[in-house]
Amino acid sequence: MTASPVLGNLFIIAAPSGAGKSSLIRALLEKHPDQSMQVSVSSTTRAPRPGEVQGVHYHFLNTDEFEQRIDAGEFYEWARVFGNYYGTSRKVVESLLAEGKDVFLDIDWQGAQQVREHHPEVRSVFIVPPSLDILEERLRFRGQDSDEVIAERMAKAQAEMSHYHEFDYLLVNDDFDSTLASLEHIVFAQRHKMPHQQVRYSKVLKELLGS
Ligand code: GDP
Ligand code: ADP
Ligand code: 5GP
Repeated sequence: MTASPVLGNLFIIAAPSGAGKSSLIRALLEKHPDQSMQVSVSSTTRAPRPGEVQGVHYHFLNTDEFEQRIDAGEFYEWARVFGNYYGTSRKVVESLLAEGKDVFLDIDWQGAQQVREHHPEVRSVFIVPPSLDILEERLRFRGQDSDEVIAERMAKAQAEMSHYHEFDYLLVNDDFDSTLASLEHIVFAQRHKMPHQQVRYSKVLKELLGS
């Protein structure tokens, strides 16, 4: 693959569990099959849910393997969430951005704080459900977590949401298609930022300005 001279854009998508972030990212990627958007597959020590595939949904690691990778500096960011480790591979993010891809990180607020330090141009989006009752309904409807896990996630949802103001954009995921359209607009606006356009259209600008 030839490296694009235009660096891709980095986006953080965060939300309390069940607000819809994985579904929204998946739908956005499906809507753009040109591969210009990619999601970074995280590593985690949590157990796979039914239907989750190693290397597709997560790289499932044991605690020793995860801690070795922390020590080796392999993570762009990592955090403990719901008692498990979660982390983003540095190599994957850096190589996708170098290829000019727009990269989505589905990470929690602690990871978001770390990423803003390395990459101040990152755009971060916080997604909330329209109500707590609807959040619980979605966790149940997803049908992948036990009652105990759902109760734990509901108990942590307000603590997670209390960080909403640290993000650049806030989306209330009521109607799925409207939220998807808003997320797409955020990505498209970022693609047209001046530094990107100057590189993409350098020839056109040279010709227009006669330089
Ligand atoms: P979900 O929230 O219901 O999709 O459940 P998961 O177990 O997949 O994720 C739990 C939490 O961990 C969510 O807040 C995710 O955003 C967060 N998470 C997933 N991957 C990473 C990662 O690589 N780094 C960090 N910091 N958080 C992550
Ligand atoms: P997260 O990744 O934030 O934990 P998911 O994407 O797994 O959340 O969504 C949780 C559940 O809610 C899924 O079953 C999904 O199909 C459903 N869902 C997501 N967004 C909406 C919406 N706007 N309206 C109704 N159901 C939704
Ligand atoms: P436009 O002419 O609107 O700038 O974009 C032309 C095509 O290039 C569109 O398909 C648009 O989505 C895509 N595009 C524009 N900017 C970027 C960018 O920064 N990164 C990527 N990956 N694609 C872009």
